[in-house]
Amino acid sequence: MKWGLIGASNIAKTCVIGAIRAVGDEVVSVLSSDEGRVQQYAQDNDINHYTNDIDQLLSNPTVEAVYISTKNNLHKEQALLAIAAGKHVMCEKPLALTVEDAKQMVDAAEKAGVVFATNHHLRNAATHTALRRAIQAGEIGKPLAARVFHAVSLPPHLQGWRIEHAADGGGVILDITVHDADTLRYVLGDDPVEVTALTQTGEMSKTGAPDSVMGVIRFKSGLLAQFHDSFTAKYSQTGLEIIGTEGTLVARDVMTQRPVGEIELINAEGSRKLALEHHNLYETGFRQFSKAVADHSQPAATGLDGIWSLATGIAVVEAAATGKTVPVSV
Ligand code: NDP
Repeated sequence: MKWGLIGASNIAKTCVIGAIRAVGDEVVSVLSSDEGRVQQYAQDNDINHYTNDIDQLLSNPTVEAVYISTKNNLHKEQALLAIAAGKHVMCEKPLALTVEDAKQMVDAAEKAGVVFATNHHLRNAATHTALRRAIQAGEIGKPLAARVFHAVSLPPHLQGWRIEHAADGGGVILDITVHDADTLRYVLGDDPVEVTALTQTGEMSKTGAPDSVMGVIRFKSGLLAQFHDSFTAKYSQTGLEIIGTEGTLVARDVMTQRPVGEIELINAEGSRKLALEHHNLYETGFRQFSKAVADHSQPAATGLDGIWSLATGIAVVEAAATGKTVPVSV
């Protein structure tokens, strides 16, 4: 697979370019809005071709697929252009700023017959797959509750639009809560129904985009999931717990880009660690994407998965703004 990068981003540089190459695919071009920066970015990352013109990138017949990792407010327009040009699309989360826009993107890809995926890397982790399998195998009986610990410290070089520009899709909810929603859907095999939430603002952001959120998601099965997402937690550890009628799964250090973490199963027999074979989350996602293009199978996280996580995030934004419980509608 030959990829064009839409966005000279940090995530492409730190996680995705390496993953594309590791699975045997190629990065042939990169697009940025900044003439000087794109040249440097291409040079730093050994990419032969660079451009400031999306039409130039999309009219390049060598480019078979694009990876979109620009600011969140740009994903929709860039995805629609790529789809219209017949390119397969791996789009970063959140897919867009409204559910309607995300649906338009996914519908367009379906009509054009191209693969459209959401880069929800967490569901590719050995840990989350093990949690899903343990639940499916009935290890904890009926899941009743979940707790997501996803409070991190946002490093200074990522503190720009992500915390200051709500109009660009900034704020902790569209950045982190969407990942929680996707991970819970994947692990539980269940869908969110309604949410309630409260935010904290001003510890890191200066312009009013929330930098921490706590809330509760009710799922179709009746399960309640509490979540804490933050940019301001310097010394916190991430985790995910699922509490069922016959046992509890405690996963530590698992809401992360790194292939790490451990899972303890606690039930009437005592407690034991689940066996895990860690592997790179991004490589897994990009490998599955190439396979989906080749054999019409599903990418790791589909466009519909991205619509669900966005719909949950948007409901959380509304719940925090209004103080009401808000339905998740897809
Ligand atoms: P960045 O801020 O690094 O990149 C976003 C855009 O900002 C780029 O497209 C670029 O615009 C511009 N930019 C980047 N660095 C600079 C700079 N030094 N000076 C000026 N402009 C710059 O964001 P992230 O890489 O953190 O996030 C990009 C997308 O990926 C978001 O949608 C985010 O939600 C998602 N993401 C996903 C993760 C995952 O694991 N799935 C993890 C992190 C982010 P241009 O391209 O025009 O040059």
